[in-house]
Parts: sequence; structure tokens; C-alpha cells
Amino acid sequence: MIRKTRLYTPGPTPLLPAAQFAMAAADMHHRTPEFRALYQKVLAQLKIFVGTKNDVLLLSSSGTGAMEAAVTNLTSPGDKVLVLTAGKFGERWTGLVKAFGCEPDVVSAPYGQTFDIAQIRAALKPEHKAVFVQATETSTAVRHDIEAIARLLKDACSQALLVVDGITGLGTTHFDVDGWGIDVLIGGSQKAVMIPPGLAYLSVSDRAWAAMETSKNPRYYFDLRKERKNASKGESAYTPAVALIAGLGAALDYIAGQAGGDLEKGRIALVNNAQVNAAATRAGLVALGFRLFAPTAPAAAATAVAVPEGMDSSDMVKALKTRFALVAANGQGEMKGKLFRVAHLGFFDYLDTIALLGAMEHIAKDTLGLPVAYGQAVEAAQRVYAEAVKQ
Ligand SMILES: *Cc1c(COP(=O)(O)O)cnc(C)c1O
Repeated sequence: MIRKTRLYTPGPTPLLPAAQFAMAAADMHHRTPEFRALYQKVLAQLKIFVGTKNDVLLLSSSGTGAMEAAVTNLTSPGDKVLVLTAGKFGERWTGLVKAFGCEPDVVSAPYGQTFDIAQIRAALKPEHKAVFVQATETSTAVRHDIEAIARLLKDACSQALLVVDGITGLGTTHFDVDGWGIDVLIGGSQKAVMIPPGLAYLSVSDRAWAAMETSKNPRYYFDLRKERKNASKGESAYTPAVALIAGLGAALDYIAGQAGGDLEKGRIALVNNAQVNAAATRAGLVALGFRLFAPTAPAAAATAVAVPEGMDSSDMVKALKTRFALVAANGQGEMKGKLFRVAHLGFFDYLDTIALLGAMEHIAKDTLGLPVAYGQAVEAAQRVYAEAVKQ
């Protein structure tokens, strides 16, 4: 039978056809009025997509480039910082801040869980220059409570800058960037904005700009002040990923189109879409007898499924690929073999969820020999969907 390749990975995610056409047509030079018009349009759209009055900058790099930019632009060697980590991406913050000479205090939560706010409160020190955290820890599919962390910093009168890796949080979580006081919020192109890898974007608060006046870490390609100066003229400092920027513009138009052209409402609809699909997926998988890896604070970006004792998640990932050309993500690092992950962020719809659960029923019944009936997972998901769309 025909099998269509379908990405269910939490980055890269499925591509929006309109964005693919825009990318294919983008043969323009970056020092032209045509590009400047496109760049200014996309930067303005990104501000609405992130939901902030702060500057939003675009970088031609994967998401980690913007994480590195946050560290190098805001810190100096010897700075004390606080890193909150609950998985592979939290560990990336620790590695990054150490690489640039910062001295991190680390609050960690076990894989599959989020932080205890009291533990963060106890670890926070007046000398911390910045706090680094994920909005969603994609390696475990856990959502962290950024609002509570931001409130804690305010209540403690902390001077620390709040730097949030929202690479899978943006488009799957509601943020009040300015109200909560998020100083830097980072996104990546291959996640909720439906285009290929290669762009990162980040919002930068006035407090963060002020910190850059005295921060001493070296930076060159990712010099945010230089990037801001160029952006004000509709240009990037270096040759940008022109085609991706054209694709991003088309994707943000599509997201606005979900709410009659209102991008702010479209963003809210996109977040709600991810949340409903995630809830339906969780219900379906639980109905099949699978255990969720992150039951207490599940992300809407992705769902992590713990495989039954004695099983290897690599076999599940392989079975989904060989039988249905469905690409799921294995666990990362120590979690490889123990869990697999499926995404809901970006260009996923309800029927993608139904397809995934239908495939999972075949795997559970035919491949694993579990005592389940066809329709069991799909029905549980349909109930969640029906409840969610009821007016
Ligand atoms: C995908 C992702 C990143 C970025 O990784 P890159 O490979 O550099 O794009 C960072 N943080 C989280 C939480 C992610 O999901």
C-alpha cells in the first residue's frame, strides 16, 4: 500500500505548503527594497506572534544560536547565574553558560517532571545575573510554569534577567511576555512556525538591552546590538536565510488567516489547536494502556510515551516508520529506548492526531500483541475533541 511520509517529530515539523511555495520563489538579493519590505513585514509579524512590545530579532541559525546569543550578549565571565533544568535542553543551558565562563547554580527536576517553585525560591540569590529555563522541555515533553517563575523573580525583587527558551513553547503556550517580565524569549523556525530549520528569533526587553551595555562576553556573529541597528533599517547584519524568511512570512500569514487575518487571535488559535491535539493524543494513548512519561505537567508541544517494561522504544519508532512511514522521535540521551515522542506543534490538525492513534492501535494490537481493540484510542481522542469544540 502507499505510505505517505509524515513527520510527527517535535522539530523539524511538517511544512506548510504555502511556505514552501514562498521559499521556492524567493530569489531576491538581501540588499534590495524588495527584501527590506519583506524583512520589515516579518519582523513586525513576529512581534505579534511572540506577543510583545519588545524588539524581536531574527538570526540565521538553529535555535541554539539564539540561546548562545542570549548568553554571550547578557553575561560576563564570572557571572553567577541560575539554570533550571529538567532534561536535555535544560542541560544545554548549563553547558552554554559554562562555555562562556559563567558560574551556574542549578535547580533540577527529574526527567518527566517540572520544578518545585519553592526549590527555585530557595536557590535564587541576589547576585544571580540571569535565570535560564525552557518553557517546554522537549526531551521529556514537560511544560514549565513560566508565569510562576516570573512572579517569583518579581516577588523576590530579583535583578536577574529571565531568559526563556520558548523554542517549542511559542505557538503551544500562552505567554504574557511584557506583563510577566520575560526579558528574552527564544523561538526556532522548525517548530510551531511550520518551516524548515535555519532561523531563530528572540524578543529582547529594555532591561536586557541595558545589560548589554556592560556585559563582557565575546560575541561577533550573534551581536544583538548590531543586529538591532541593522533591523531598524530593514536589513540583517550578514547574509540572511532569505528563502526561510519568505517562508516565515507566508506561515505567519497562514496563522493570521486562522482568525480572519488577525495574527494575535491566530496565534491564540494555534496554541489552542496544539493543546486540544495534545490532550486528545494523551487520552488515546492512555486508553491503549500506555503510560505518559510526563503526566503531571504535560506540554502541548509534544507528548512523551513511556514504553512498557521490557520493551525498547526504538522498536516502536522503527515499527511506526516501517509500517506507516510515520516519523516519531525516540528518547534523547539516557531516555533513548525508554520513551518515544510525538509532536502537536505547528501544522498538525485533528485528523493528524486520529491518524497517529489509528497507527498506534495497529502497533499495540498487531505488533505488540497487547489486548486492545481497534478504535479504542481513536474513540477516546474523539471524546476529547468533541468536548473541546462544543460551544
Ligand atoms: C528544538 C529545540 C531547541 C533548538 O535546537 P536546535 O537544534 O538548535 O534548533 C532548543 N530548545 C528546545 C526546547 C527545543 O525543542
